[in-house]
Formats: sequence, C-alpha cells, structure tokens
Amino acid sequence: MNKYYVYVQNTVSGPFTLDVIVKMLIEGSISNNTQISCGKGTPWQLISDRPEILHAVSQWQAPASTQAEQPIKVIPVQAVAAQARQPVQQNPTNQQIPVVTVQAVPVKAQPVQLQEETAVFYCPRCNQKYEGESSWLGRDVICTTCNEIFVAGSTELKPSPDSVSDEQEYISWENSTGDIICPHCWLHFGSEQLLYIASHPSLTGDPVLGSLAQKRFSPTNFNALGQALDAMSYACTDVACPRCHLKIPQTLIEEKSLYFSIVGTHSCGKSYYLATLIHQLRHKLANEFACSLLDVDPEMNMVIDSYEETLFRPVKVNEVAVLPKTQREGEKFVNTVVMGNMPVNLPKPFVFELKHQQRQAGAEDCNIVFYDNAGEHFQPGGDDVTNPGTRHLACSNGIIFIFDPVNDAVMRQNCNDQDPQLASDVNVYDQSKLMSEMVSRIRRHCNLNTNEKCTIPLVIGVGKYDTWRHLLSRDIADLDTISYNDTDFSAVWNRNTVMDVSFELRNLMLQYAPSLVNTAEGFFEKVYFVPFSNFGCLATLDSTGQAGVIPNQIKPLWPEQLFLTLMAENGKLPVSTTAGAANQMPTRIIDDFIVFTHPGNNSVVRLPWFYSQSVITVDGQTWQLPAHPKAIQQQQPQQAADPERFINDDLWS
Ligand SMILES: [Zn+2]
Ligand SMILES: [Zn+2]
Repeated sequence: MNKYYVYVQNTVSGPFTLDVIVKMLIEGSISNNTQISCGKGTPWQLISDRPEILHAVSQWQAPASTQAEQPIKVIPVQAVAAQARQPVQQNPTNQQIPVVTVQAVPVKAQPVQLQEETAVFYCPRCNQKYEGESSWLGRDVICTTCNEIFVAGSTELKPSPDSVSDEQEYISWENSTGDIICPHCWLHFGSEQLLYIASHPSLTGDPVLGSLAQKRFSPTNFNALGQALDAMSYACTDVACPRCHLKIPQTLIEEKSLYFSIVGTHSCGKSYYLATLIHQLRHKLANEFACSLLDVDPEMNMVIDSYEETLFRPVKVNEVAVLPKTQREGEKFVNTVVMGNMPVNLPKPFVFELKHQQRQAGAEDCNIVFYDNAGEHFQPGGDDVTNPGTRHLACSNGIIFIFDPVNDAVMRQNCNDQDPQLASDVNVYDQSKLMSEMVSRIRRHCNLNTNEKCTIPLVIGVGKYDTWRHLLSRDIADLDTISYNDTDFSAVWNRNTVMDVSFELRNLMLQYAPSLVNTAEGFFEKVYFVPFSNFGCLATLDSTGQAGVIPNQIKPLWPEQLFLTLMAENGKLPVSTTAGAANQMPTRIIDDFIVFTHPGNNSVVRLPWFYSQSVITVDGQTWQLPAHPKAIQQQQPQQAADPERFINDDLWS
C-alpha cells in the first residue's frame, strides 16, 4: 500500500492513500502538475509521471460516468436547517452534544425499531446525536457536523455522556472503516486519521496514555522529506492509532497483516509456547521456506524476546530455566489506556514481519501479529468495556487453543507418571469451559446466529506431547511434514501428515475430553488437532519447585506445525495435498460429514467435511477418504475470486 505526500502552495501534506489522491485530483484540489512523493527517500515527481495514479483515476471515473452510481444518500435537509439555527457551543461548560431533530420523508419500513416512532442515532465519527422518525434508520445520512456519510441507527448505543470530551474524541469500534487496523484496539481507519507522536522531549502529556507519554497530534506541517513536524518543529516518524493513541509500526500501515490469537489456561505453558514457536519459526521458515521472521519493533516484542533468550540462548545451559507465569506478569501483556474516561486494558500484540527471500509466484511479504490470551480474560465478566481483551478473536485469521493434558482430570491419568507436573493438581481445570466461553465471545463479537458456523480456522494444540506420546500409534518425531519439489528444490508443507495425525488425535480427544471436541466442532467449521511439545523432554523442577526445563535438553517437537496449519489455511504457505497410495473403504457423505466405520475398532466415525480426500492411517494401514462436495465447492471459487492467494498450481492448496 503506497502512501503519498503532495506539495501544494509551499506546504507538504499527507500521507494520503491512493484513493484520497484520486479524489483530490477529481475535485481539482491537486492537478497532474502537482509534485508528489511517497515519503522518505523517494523522489518528488509530477503526478503525470506516476502511471498508477493516472490508472486509478481512469478506473475511478469509469463507473461514475456510466451509471452515476452515487451512494443512495439522504441528506436530512431539515437537520441542516435545525443545526444552523442552533447556536453551537451555547453552553461550553456543559459538555452536552446538541440534539438535532430530523423530520424524515416517508420511506420503506425499516427492520431496526427503537422505542415507538422516535429514533435516536449517532454519527459514528463525531457522536453528533440525531432524533427523527424510525423510518430514517438504515438509510444513509450525512452528518451535518462532520460530513461523515453513515447508516442511521448503526450505532445503536448511546455513548456514555463522559465519552466525548473536548480533549479526546471517542471513536466507536463497531463502525470504524478504513484500510488500517489498529493492532491494539482493532479500530479500522484510514491513513489520513493517523496521529503522529511528538519527538521533542518537552512535548509530553496525552489524554489517553497519561502525563508521561509523548504528545500525539494530527500533523499540519511537514518538512520537505514529508515528515510531520511537531509543535517544536521536530521531525516525527512514529505514528499512533487515532483511538487508543498507541504506537503502530510503520510496516502495519504498508503491508497486509495476519492476526493469530493464542488461547489457553494460565498453566498450559503459553509463554513457553510463544517463545518456542517464534524460535522454531525463525529457523524453519528460513531453512525450508526461504522466509525471514523479523521483529518489527523490538520494544513491542520485548517479552517474547526475553523468553526466547532464557530458553534458547541461556548463559547456563545446564541449569533449569523457568519463565515467569503470564498471570503474575499481567502488566507485560496489556497496555492500559484511558478511553471514554475509563482505564481500558488492551492485550499487547507481538508483531513480526514475514519477508520472502526469493520472489516466488504470488509470495507476498506480510505482518504476523500474535495475541496471547490468558484464561482469566475469559472469566465471566472478564470481557467488558474496560477489558475488551478477547475482541481480537473476532478479527483473527486463525486461533490456536492450547490444551494442557497434564491439567485435564481424565487425560492426566494416562500421562507419563515420571512427569513432575503431575505431582500437583491445583491447576486441574475443565478446559472445555474455556472453549465454550471463547465460542460465546466470538459468536457475540462476530454477530453470528446460534446455527451459524465460524469460518476462522481453529487448531487445538495438545501440548506436553512428551508426557503422553505413548497414546499415539506413531511418534510425530518420525513424520515428514516437509517435502521438496524436485524441479526447484522449494519446500512444500505436507498437509496430509497433519490431517492424518489430527484424525488420530481427534479420536483420542473424543475419548478424554468429548465436550471440548464437540463444542469446538459445533462452532468452528475447521478444527485441527495437532500434538506438540515445547521441550521435547519432560519438565524439570527448579529449586523452588517451579516447573522449567534444562536448556540444553530442549528439542521442540511440532510447535510450528500449529501455526503452519493456520498459514496454509490462509493461503500463505506452499502446500502439497498429495498422499500415498491407500486402501479404499466404504464411506458415506451425510450433510457436512464423512461417515464410516473405523477400520481399527469398528466404531462409527463422523468426520467433518474438510478431511475430504485425506489419507488416514490405522494400525499401519492407510485408507483413502472420499472427496466431500463442500471441499470441492470451496476450492474453486476461492481460487477465482482471490488472485492474491498464494496459489499457483496443484501443489498449493
Ligand atoms: Zn459526524
Ligand atoms: Zn488503537
């Protein structure tokens, strides 16, 4: 995504998106002879020398001229009049927003109904209150205060009277639009709304972040390099979200991002998982897929970096390394900001950039954002206005749910009794409750009906594999998850290896934690079961009795497979779907399921449709599953509709 700065009347302004530049050209506020630059280090050129802008202008004009496709907007004329009569700021000490009465022309009956005939709605941008007939609801209206075009009634809740102050404008999360997503508060906004962070040391004090933070401001002056200038005329390059005022790394503005949420109880080893995952990914991606995973902002990733260091670059490799528990380290995982005059805890994102070393067909650099969600975010009431901790789940491109077998009442009885973590049962917890709570949060945030399924892919990672590895018929350490393309030596991820293991682990989990499996599969369209071990060896207790690990014994098993599964689901990984020769067996397609008799124990298996065409292994024999119509149907339109997907031939799925 390019951004542009323009030089008009001896002033540089911007950054603007291509869309905004096109609109400015069409309105005539800039012309083909205006000088334009893409920011630091790029030359100033005439707009007429930028083919992509000329192209965008020609694209923009075409639909407008052929069908005059003005959005059906209704301008409340009476509202304009009423607003004009109303003295603005009549009562500056009282922060009430002036009420404008709208008399609407009759339109079709609208689905949304507020109390009787009078409807109250608010401008999502400036919170201007409007009152009018309920028939206005659902229509496009223009705010007389800020010119925002919005759908009347889409902000159904009255903002708390304190939420708008003269210092701070509260921007509603639900109605936000724009290319940029804030990784802290999930506001969608346009680049023109970005705030800059003052760089002069004297410019401190921010209404959202507190008195010690550097000031945030909307830039009005720029230097010749296109950098915003703060009130002391210092050049500023760091930008921040218009709502939560937290810093947003530049790469999140320039490149697409994928968001992944990690969920699990506080004892499940999430901190160890994140550290091991990042460590493994750095190696695997570089060695196998010619990608680098870069720290976008060392300050933001400090916690994970320190964990990675404790485990993988310790000074004393023979002494037990213990990571601090997420629960007690709470403040390291949240940013507290003041929004609507209330302190709000926002979970900290961990941001990485995935860079391709080779330009393969369709390979695109992107940002990878991780959120670590402690179990307590899911306690009833844990997700209110002040702790919107689980909101990111609804925006996720994939969720990793970490199941801790050692703290499951049934499964722990089948774990290796040498594991010192079995000695204490204080953390034993029914993890299906956490799953149900997560499901109800996502259903609410995504506005799904009770019978609608969620399309976010879910991986249930069953951790501490080292302590229950005897329960699987094969050792995952022996399985190949990567194979190499003969022609160009590029690596592909073997989807079937993971599907096959997922099939066996799913059966195991149905035995030990059936309600977890049923809750997950009842809500998520695709649920993968992937075993992993952060350490690849049993935990060791340190002198205080805390479970840790001896660094030079660490040999992680499959932590990256959970993530690679989600990357493949998002079309960001070269995938091989081929599986070896296999026996045929009688199966039936019933609704969204593939139904058959388990070749090993003769029980009836109802597998979700996305196991379509997988080859499963039972007692050393391989069996071919049929193609499910739903899987075939999903493959085709996606390829056609989304050319940006990382797919080019049948090796890519
Ligand atoms: Zn407005
Ligand atoms: Zn934000």
